[in-house]
Amino acid sequence: MTSASKSFLARLVLAGVLGVAGPLSALAQQATDAVAPESGNAVAQSFEALSPEALSALATKATGKPVEAKRWMIAAANPLAVEAGAKVLKAGGSAADALVAIQTVLGLVEPQSSGLGGGAFLVWYDAATGKLTTLDGRETAPLAARPTAFLDGEGEPLKFYDAVVGGLSVGTPGTPKLLEEAHKRWGKLDWAPLFKDAIDLAEKGFTVSPRLASLVAEDPDRLGRFAATRAYFFPSGAPIKAGETLRNPDYAATLQAIAANGAKAFYYGEIARDIVKTVQTAPGNPGFLSDKDLSLYEVIEREPVCAAYRGRDVCGMGPPSSGALTVGQILGMLDNYDLTALGADDPKSWRLIGDASRLAFADRGRYMADVDFVPMPLKGLVDEDYLDGRSDLLKGDDALPEVAPGTPPWDHAMLLSNDEAIEFPSTSHISIVDADGNALSMTTTIENGFGSRLFVRGFLLNNELTDFSFRTQKDGVPIANRLEPGKRPRSSMSPTIVMKDGKPELVIGSPGGSRIIGYVAEAIIAHLDWGMNVQQAVSLPHLVNRFGTYDLEAGTKAESLADPLEALGYKVNTRDLNSGLHAIAVGDTLQGGADPRREGIALGE
Ligand code: GLU
Repeated sequence: MTSASKSFLARLVLAGVLGVAGPLSALAQQATDAVAPESGNAVAQSFEALSPEALSALATKATGKPVEAKRWMIAAANPLAVEAGAKVLKAGGSAADALVAIQTVLGLVEPQSSGLGGGAFLVWYDAATGKLTTLDGRETAPLAARPTAFLDGEGEPLKFYDAVVGGLSVGTPGTPKLLEEAHKRWGKLDWAPLFKDAIDLAEKGFTVSPRLASLVAEDPDRLGRFAATRAYFFPSGAPIKAGETLRNPDYAATLQAIAANGAKAFYYGEIARDIVKTVQTAPGNPGFLSDKDLSLYEVIEREPVCAAYRGRDVCGMGPPSSGALTVGQILGMLDNYDLTALGADDPKSWRLIGDASRLAFADRGRYMADVDFVPMPLKGLVDEDYLDGRSDLLKGDDALPEVAPGTPPWDHAMLLSNDEAIEFPSTSHISIVDADGNALSMTTTIENGFGSRLFVRGFLLNNELTDFSFRTQKDGVPIANRLEPGKRPRSSMSPTIVMKDGKPELVIGSPGGSRIIGYVAEAIIAHLDWGMNVQQAVSLPHLVNRFGTYDLEAGTKAESLADPLEALGYKVNTRDLNSGLHAIAVGDTLQGGADPRREGIALGE
């Protein structure tokens, strides 16, 4: 467990387990009460330069009340990034303009989670046309990479961190081109000025946050392996500390180049050459990324994947993300059960949610991967009749003894085996609604905390290729998510927009590896079925089941469900569940919620 998350848990424990009676359930009550105000204060102290609005948004998060606004709203993982986006919206910019400012600041102040060296998925609701668009800015496998890249001489999978740290895991970054594409399609302001805050902060220095400092302090061996990475995060030999000012002139120069010349300044020329050299010469673990991979990179527009739930359409990113399909399957199966009547405290609710999730994860393992490389029953997986059949499996009283993938209707035929990709929590989620009513939901990542640990030109390179299955086949049957040149690794990122009567009702997403799917599904249920506001919905203690074991969030009231869930036949495991949900509810007003487990805020006007 990280010390950042330990301190979150400590705060939860400090806040106490409250047996408050009232209209909210015990779990929901904790969502209101669990986070002591000091969580906001600790972060606030390290952001002296924050505006009064941002400081008050930090404090609000601890109360369980959403931030309310009329015109626009941003929810994201770091107050400095949110403020940069807020300036853009105040100046009349669109959500796409604000995104450029927010992502470039996040890449500086939350470098462990996302940045220029990574990839992202974006869901956009266009108020003028009423249309939803999804853009795939996922990393690609280099053309020279082979399916066996993550197997050792004996054909056995490499140890996870042996694969992650160094050049081997680095895929072609997609984020710079995705920002440019979003701005080209939906931007209202000029491109270059959108980089101003990030460039200024990188040049003058920003205040290191408690979370960044503790994550650096916990990872000295891996971060210390490469000279450039070591020099940035351990400038005097010791790890950077919370409250210190950290400058990143190389990042400022990279941003200046992209601001002046567009994303091509990243994919061609000196920056590209340095990226390739860093990957191909990584000591001990060189990789395959080449200038050709960079120059060929394309953002792909894909059809949104939507599933029906409670009269809404829950829409998000299709393959190569498994996010919208798996969230959609879970909700689609649950649509036949009355979770409102059961409520958040009833173990029966969690049996239904947990087993729906296990069934969906069984399909995910069998079928979901980059659809450009692997035939898959894309429509069949969220077909209502198919999901009704899967939903019938939930009719018993106890945990399902075992789950297996179903047989959704196919557009193609191909037998695929389950895979075993490992995903670890880092990543960041940005939700924005602008004054024109456009809505943006983007989850952005460099995969593992600090990605491959390779640092070049002021930013970290991703390790996204370890989201592929390390094995290529099982019992002679190919694994859908095996590595192939040019392919995009399967993701769990679930940037989501819930649509009601053709308009956005909820904009949401989270980091958290493959638990993202559970976090997002749970928060949607909390909001739609259990009537929680967005702040309560994102603060709700987590219960997540992917493969049979029920994960309960340590130090929260979720633990009180351990015995009842065991009695239903589940193995339970109490652990840190480090989501980073950022959500906006769209109604008469806009309401924003930011995950108390991270440092972010919601801010609106
Ligand atoms: N790389 C993971 C994915 O794309 C996300 C990792 C995380 O959330 O920490 O699914």
